[in-house]
Amino acid sequence: MRWLPLFLDLRGRRVVVIGGGAIAERKIDLLIQSGAAIRIIAPAITPRLAARLTAGELEHAPRDFVPADLDGARLAIAATDAPLVNRAVATAAEARNIFANIVDNAELSTGILPAIVDRSPLVIAIGTEGSAPALARYVRAHIESLLDESLGRLAGFLARWRERIRQRVPDTLLRRRLYERILHGPVADRVRAAREDEAAVLLDQMTLAGAAAGGAPACEGGRVQIVGAGPGDPGLLTLHALRALQGADVVLHDRLVSAGVLGLARREAQLIEVGKSARGHSIDQAHIHELMREHAARGLRVVRLKGGDPFIFGRGGEEIAFLRTHGIPYEVVPGITAALACAAYAGIPLTHRDHAASLRIVTAHCQGAIDAVDWRTLALQRETLAIYMAVGTVERVEAELLRHGRAPDTPVAFIENGSRPEQRVLIGTLAGAAALSAAHAVSSPALLVVGSVAALAAQLHWYGDVPLDGRPRATARVAHSG
Ligand code: SAH
Repeated sequence: MRWLPLFLDLRGRRVVVIGGGAIAERKIDLLIQSGAAIRIIAPAITPRLAARLTAGELEHAPRDFVPADLDGARLAIAATDAPLVNRAVATAAEARNIFANIVDNAELSTGILPAIVDRSPLVIAIGTEGSAPALARYVRAHIESLLDESLGRLAGFLARWRERIRQRVPDTLLRRRLYERILHGPVADRVRAAREDEAAVLLDQMTLAGAAAGGAPACEGGRVQIVGAGPGDPGLLTLHALRALQGADVVLHDRLVSAGVLGLARREAQLIEVGKSARGHSIDQAHIHELMREHAARGLRVVRLKGGDPFIFGRGGEEIAFLRTHGIPYEVVPGITAALACAAYAGIPLTHRDHAASLRIVTAHCQGAIDAVDWRTLALQRETLAIYMAVGTVERVEAELLRHGRAPDTPVAFIENGSRPEQRVLIGTLAGAAALSAAHAVSSPALLVVGSVAALAAQLHWYGDVPLDGRPRATARVAHSG
């Protein structure tokens, strides 16, 4: 390691930036956050820098660089594309014993600005000793995705407690263990959930005399995250979902969750399928509850992973009610629900100025659900319907919507396996929807979109196979059978 990483306190200290172009702009964005007293030396500056000048955030000497510009400076940054100027800055800095960063020239530099991940007060600096800035950026993007945005708040929270913790738990080893329990347990969870008051109460209990010495109770830290896995394409996971998967001890997942998503779980995590059968009969919901309770009680981090979004036809509500009753800490991570994903991947805007002003999310998976539907409101003309679990009941859906006055030529689209490579989109009209579904043997998981926006898929599609229209095509069917 030739370059020593070092964090500088530049508040109020003079930093001279030579150059007033785009690169200088970027360096100055960063420097401003540090509170440095910035002076730009450059014949001309960009409009954005000029705005900062007007706002009093920096000084500007509108002329060429002279060595005396570095008198009294702590740091010099040369951000020009003139090699001679850059070299002059390096020489002048060296003569005055101050550090100089010469942009894109590690050889001339005595300091390098690292790529950073900013969760202030937690800051991670990444450097490649000037050899491969692109690699530093790549690593940075990786770390960004792994570290929760709430870590900054956690760092601030711990800073406020640091002195009290040191007094209450003087023993170094015990204190280190305590910090591990804080970071992996309910205190960090509470901070992430924006409940710092509760985190403080917990930490207070943990650090009171004797509590810290006793070590963690066996079940501490157990919790359940109810996580939406999206419709199948792993790229549609949220960062929170990814982090939950990578921190999981146990993953209880639905059958709908794709292999690509499961592949992102921590390698050591135990994967347990608790899926539903094709007809929508769940494996005993009580059994799922019991599995969550059991594993959380053993102090494990449980991820309950559900297709799409947990709160859209996902029984997520029942599950958190159960967890609440049993005093098990939980979090909910939303996912991209099938209607949003299928529409996007089929090129169907769910609302559209010319076609639909509202969207209704409906299910028709069984007789009971169908009987509970208010068909009159569903038959409104300028509304898009996204019908979940419609495969077995499309005949009835078609008949009811027609009977209640929805126009027979209303466009419809079936999206089967939305967002997955095997996605199929079929376009037709409401009168004939059941026949269309039968002719192409549409199977689960599939979503039915009803409303004039559905027809737009014919022009706006961009993913997977080209949509099929009402006429069955032998080749297409062969290609998709089996
Ligand atoms: N919680 C899920 C829905 C569960 S109900 C969500 O928010 O998406 C299961 C139904 O969702 C399926 O019958 C189907 O109608 C729909 N669905 C889920 N994934 C789908 C996909 N990839 N393509 C099409 N429909 C899908």
